[in-house]
Amino acid sequence: MAQPIQCDNCGAVLVEEDVFCGECGAPRTSATQPAEAETSPAPATPPPPPSETPGDSRETAWRVATIVLGIMAAILCLLGVAAFLLFGLTESDVTTPTEDWLYATFCCLLPIAGSGAILAVSSLGIWWIRLRGR
Ligand SMILES: [Zn+2]
Repeated sequence: MAQPIQCDNCGAVLVEEDVFCGECGAPRTSATQPAEAETSPAPATPPPPPSETPGDSRETAWRVATIVLGIMAAILCLLGVAAFLLFGLTESDVTTPTEDWLYATFCCLLPIAGSGAILAVSSLGIWWIRLRGR
């Protein structure tokens, strides 16, 4: 740990206890005297604030993805139900009301609201895997 102390005047190596240089008699200067200042470790780099660590930004990304998926799921479910009601209530001369409702179910409710349900499950899955317990 101790670096060799050198005389500022002639460069001779001094012992730590030396007050004057043994070679030229020059007094030790303050520059060579404090062993502490020379050998003290550089101040540790402070850790970055928590909000900027990669893990947290990744968690934020997952959180945003979960929210976006949840919103899209809700919109799709509403759209599916709306289309289902719209087509189910539409009166037609060629189809019976029952056929209308069946048509609405399989062509509107299941595809659209089903996609919404898949998105909702994905969102829940992300939350469960990435964000649970935080
Ligand atoms: Zn000297």
